[in-house]
This record gives sequence, C-alpha cells and structure tokens, in this order.
Amino acid sequence: MMDKKEARLEVARKEMVTHQLIGRGIHDQCILRAMATIPRHLFVPEHLHDAAYQDCPLPIGYGATISQPYIVAYMSELLSLSKNDRVFELGTGSGYQAAVLAFCAQEVVSIERIPELITIALENLAAIGTSNVRVLEGDATALAADHAPYDAAILTAASPALPEYLYPYMNDGGRIVVPVGDMYVQELFLITVVHGKGRTEGMGGVRFVPVIGRYGFPPK
Ligand code: SAH
Repeated sequence: MMDKKEARLEVARKEMVTHQLIGRGIHDQCILRAMATIPRHLFVPEHLHDAAYQDCPLPIGYGATISQPYIVAYMSELLSLSKNDRVFELGTGSGYQAAVLAFCAQEVVSIERIPELITIALENLAAIGTSNVRVLEGDATALAADHAPYDAAILTAASPALPEYLYPYMNDGGRIVVPVGDMYVQELFLITVVHGKGRTEGMGGVRFVPVIGRYGFPPK
C-alpha cells in the first residue's frame, strides 16, 4: 500500500510530466515514460522530497545540482536514444539523469569526480532497481576513452569548449549533448559525429556547474 506521501509525490510526478514536459513539447515516448516512472524525489536530499517535481534545479550537495526536470527531458530527447545504445555521461551527481537514460538505452557509463556523490548515486540507483548504469570515479574527460565506443554522450556540466576529445570515441552517427560556455552561462549544443567530424547545432541557453578536469575548467 502506498502511504499518503508517496501518493502525493506520484500525483506531483504525473503533473510534472503533463505540464512541464508534454506542455513544452517533449515528445520522445520513452523519455516521457522514464520520467513518469522514475521517482525523482529519491534522488534529492530528504528535506527536498516535496520540491523534487517543481520546475527548477535543486542542490544535491558538494556544489552539484540535479537539473530542472525539463532540462533533463530536453537533453535526453536530443540524444535520440534507442534500446541498444551505449551512453556516456559526464557528471553522475545524484544518478537521476543516468537513470532516465538507462530506461531508454542498453547501458550507461556514468563518471563522477566526487566520491561522496558516487556513494549517493549508487544507493539511489539500487533503490529503484536500475542495473544497467556503470558508475565510475574520476575525471570523465580523461576516462571516456577507457569504455568507448558510445552511441550517445551527455555532459551534465559546463564545458569551456566543444568536446572534440570525445569525437574519436563515438560510433558513426553518434550524438553528443553538451553545455558550452563560461563558468556562469552556456549554450546547449547537439553535436552529431560523422566520420570523426562534428556537426553542431545550438539549442538554447542553459546554466550548469563547470566541468573540472583535463578538458574542463581548472579546480579552484
Ligand atoms: N547528472 C547529475 C547532475 C550533475 S551536476 C544528476 O542527474 O543529478 C554536475 C556533476 O558533474 C557534478 O556532480 C560534478 O562533480 C561533476 N563533474 C564536474 N567535472 C567532472 C569531471 N571532469 N568528471 C566527472 N564528473 C565531473
């Protein structure tokens, strides 16, 4: 039996999908099903459970944030996932974005530099029974090669430049979604990699925490 809180959060989740996602043009049926099914509140700190379905990003500790639901949906949809895709993620954070991708792909390799967040993400993913996400610790910009090739890649942190270092690790026709800009504001890019070359499309302004690493910003 569902208790009152779970029932209330399930209503909030369905309303989030209807208003924030479908209402703004998200149409990938798998992504919509993923976000209607996955209990996003389990990926935020307990005192924020009731805010989990609001139209905003939320802090998850260690300077990281779980993106606004619409941004998670929009970036996921841009990846045009299919069931046998292998996906790379930079920035596991809470594990929520990885769980959404894993719902619509074969396997997700997600790399996070902050060990405490890895512990949290692994607990969260286990709690919802997701078994096709591999969470690894380290600088994802340096470790991407180890687990290649990928059909899709998502950077959930801001990159100072187009991530050309990833192009050799993408299968032909592979898609990369990445915020590119300075530490404070970025443009979201969809990159399609064909014969090792990237075709880029700007998809609008966004705001992410920075990539820290070899192909990122220097640590403070
Ligand atoms: N996708 C996450 C949100 C990530 S916030 C979610 O759904 O909850 C961005 C994350 O990128 C932060 O946790 C930050 O620690 C991580 N990060 C920044 N630079 C990184 C790098 N070079 N390699 C791996 N993770 C990185």
